[in-house]
Amino acid sequence: MNNTFITAGVMGWPVAHSRSPFIHNYWIQQHGLRGVYGLFAVHPNHLEAGIQGIKALGLAGSNITIPHKVEAMKYMDWVDPLATRMGAINTIVVQPDGALHGFNNDGFGYIESLREAQPTWHANAGPCVVLGAGGAARAIIVSLLDAGATEIRVLNRTHSKAEELAQEFGTHVTALNWSDRSEALANANLLVNTTNQGMRGEEALDIELDRLPTSALVSDAIYIPLETPLLAAARMRGNTTVNGLGMLLHQARPAFEAWFGVMPEVTPQLRKVILATF
Ligand code: NAP
Repeated sequence: MNNTFITAGVMGWPVAHSRSPFIHNYWIQQHGLRGVYGLFAVHPNHLEAGIQGIKALGLAGSNITIPHKVEAMKYMDWVDPLATRMGAINTIVVQPDGALHGFNNDGFGYIESLREAQPTWHANAGPCVVLGAGGAARAIIVSLLDAGATEIRVLNRTHSKAEELAQEFGTHVTALNWSDRSEALANANLLVNTTNQGMRGEEALDIELDRLPTSALVSDAIYIPLETPLLAAARMRGNTTVNGLGMLLHQARPAFEAWFGVMPEVTPQLRKVILATF
């Protein structure tokens, strides 16, 4: 019997709501591995000590979540270039020599969730409209560019942040005014909401979908509720919709592979296990 016991987890503040333990512990059990994935409530004042603790405690690594995704980069020995472009990490992998390497798998998770919902979808089949300009938007924009998108329209309530993204990511990314969000949907191939609007307890996103082609994929980074008012409206008019649960589940796969040595699958059974926690 292999005596290796592998420990990983997620650091955040607060972190008790995280679904990640359910995902990783499900895979640990499914693959008959010896290990555990825990919750690490790390106050921002203790982030450096928490990250050094990964090494001291002999963990395989850790996920990093709100509010530490940007700050944690400082304490890495190496950051993956993709994560550098995204400006944040969500995964730390301890190397055999003890070095801490930082990665960001949110964009991978997002693109995988689209491909799962519509395998024929291509990033370069028409303009992509991104609502919001925060951390999720950055990861999604980088992954859409890498998937071949040639026109990304970014709209954000605070316009200057959309402008910053357009400046940073070059000619394929254009910032449009938030007040033009309904018009910006003309001939789009993808609409993605990365704002908090539509989340449980928040107002619905205020947008008219009339100009959006019914062939466009409509996605929301939000997963509580599973169907936001945006996704419900899009589904009613015939668009294929993708909620944020796929992004959450798929981003976990490369991290699990790095720590536990097996690339796991997102199965209907896993979805059922996670849905039971909502
Ligand atoms: P963030 O960095 O705080 O960005 C929040 C965004 O929402 C900003 O663009 C903000 O605009 C916008 N916003 C907030 N209130 C708004 C309002 N009343 N009207 C219009 N826009 C508003 O957050 P984040 O980390 O990017 O997360 C954004 C969403 O993605 C959250 O719902 C989060 O749960 C979800 N998410 C999901 C996954 C997943 O795996 N499915 C992963 C990451 C994030 P301003 O710049 O004007 O404030």
